[in-house]
Amino acid sequence: MTTSATITLPTGQTLKIPTGLFIDNKFVPAAKGGTFDTINPSTEEVICCVAEATAEDIDLAVSSSRRAFTTTWGQNVLGTERARLINKLADLMERDQQMLAELEAYDNGKPVRIARDGDIADSIACLRYYAGWADKLTGQTISSTGPTKFNFTREEPIGVCGQIIPWNYPIMMWAWKTGPALATGCTVVMKPSELTPLTALKLCELVQEAGFPAGVLNCVPGLGPVGGAALASHPDVNKIAFTGSTETGRKIMEASAKSNLKKVSLELGGKSPSLVFESADLEKAAAWALMGATYNSGQDCTCGSRVYVQSSVYDKFLSIMKVKVEEYHIGDGFDSKSSAGPLISKAQFDKVNAYIQSGIDEGATPFIYSPKTERRGYFVEPVVFSDVKSDMKIVQEEIFGPVLSVGRFETEAEAIALANDSKYGLGAAVYSSDGGQCIRVSSSIAAGTVWINQYGLLSNQAPFGGYKMSGIGRELGSYALAEYTAVKSVLWNVGDEPYWPL
Ligand code: NAD
Repeated sequence: MTTSATITLPTGQTLKIPTGLFIDNKFVPAAKGGTFDTINPSTEEVICCVAEATAEDIDLAVSSSRRAFTTTWGQNVLGTERARLINKLADLMERDQQMLAELEAYDNGKPVRIARDGDIADSIACLRYYAGWADKLTGQTISSTGPTKFNFTREEPIGVCGQIIPWNYPIMMWAWKTGPALATGCTVVMKPSELTPLTALKLCELVQEAGFPAGVLNCVPGLGPVGGAALASHPDVNKIAFTGSTETGRKIMEASAKSNLKKVSLELGGKSPSLVFESADLEKAAAWALMGATYNSGQDCTCGSRVYVQSSVYDKFLSIMKVKVEEYHIGDGFDSKSSAGPLISKAQFDKVNAYIQSGIDEGATPFIYSPKTERRGYFVEPVVFSDVKSDMKIVQEEIFGPVLSVGRFETEAEAIALANDSKYGLGAAVYSSDGGQCIRVSSSIAAGTVWINQYGLLSNQAPFGGYKMSGIGRELGSYALAEYTAVKSVLWNVGDEPYWPL
């Protein structure tokens, strides 16, 4: 197979894109010659085919990353140099921001504007944030060991990192994972989702152009149960960072346990609750709640898919929500009016529609529901269910579509109990004008992120991750650095004792 394709974007512009595996700074065909198609979810048409990594390719990529780790990267390169290269990569992404946004929109379906000014702008900032850390990693000096013992710690890069990322934010998940890995001196074998491999490969051209040594970042698109599984179970990989479904996260932990007990960080699913108290500004709460449930067409791990409203303002909240949903436009990513695009695939489209049907079958009221069946592409209009009960599937399970369940509560204690009635614990929101209530409730919800009077905004400087079955470990902020480092304690005898003093 060839290792590049020329595609024509909906703007009419042609673009040459790499379609091979990226190993040792070269684009190469897969060892077995396999390929898979990537599809434009707005039109259901094949964009191009991409090399499919199998276990042989994963072996080559891991060896390449190991070589780089022990020779040109890892502890062989100063933090200032790592920072320079990461900043250079960020500059190149900024130069190509519009092109990357169009390619992301084409492969993923999301609006170009959101890809450019949201995902990619944030990814550039994320790389720059971690470039800032690259020369600031320090250890501790431990003085309690006495005057003749010198004890210090070193934070060393953990080694070769496998990074398995999803399709909902292809570039952003790439940046969240490569930023801290490269800054700490790790090398990376990246496995993008088979549903959105194109921007990850395009970024590899920028990795080459920035001047990273060969093997520091390899990229091996492929199917999850094949290439992904081979990476997760590889005995020479020191760490796997994963974002995706809880079910796959469990398989990755099992693969780690059965191979070499590699370190694992997991960013998984959610069923994030929002609590709207009667003192809240209802206009703003409804706007944030709608955004929380429909951003990225609900294909977001922190999708705010459960909203509980205090009974006294329940009907008013729903009527405001109805007006706001009517202003919302799900459409083609190349249409500047689109607030969000289609779902990623036929499988996700069928899954989300099955959840909507289950809500109707289980007796929830489809308060807002106007399916457009004649449309090409995997588009799903926002759905709002009212009168939901806690045991309904739409209230308990992650849907990953623009489907919102709105329930009611009477007291603060009841609201907290409803919020915590989930196996997940990723995000949550509190809407209230009572400061004491905001603090009390945010402290009582088991979730890695709690927003107060807003929803979904994250910062590269603050940690992100889950309680309960939403994950293990933290991304972003200084907390993510610990996921990519091993701490070594060095104990040095500077005294005269010839042996153990006891
Ligand atoms: P997934 O978890 O199967 O895929 C995510 C990544 O894991 C992809 O790169 C995939 O190739 C890889 N993968 C799949 N099986 C693997 C395996 N056995 N070993 C190693 N890697 C493997 O997600 P999906 O099937 O694309 O989506 C299914 C559901 O997952 C969605 O409906 C949604 O509920 C959830 N999801 C969550 C997130 C998130 O951001 N937390 C992202 C995507 C999907």
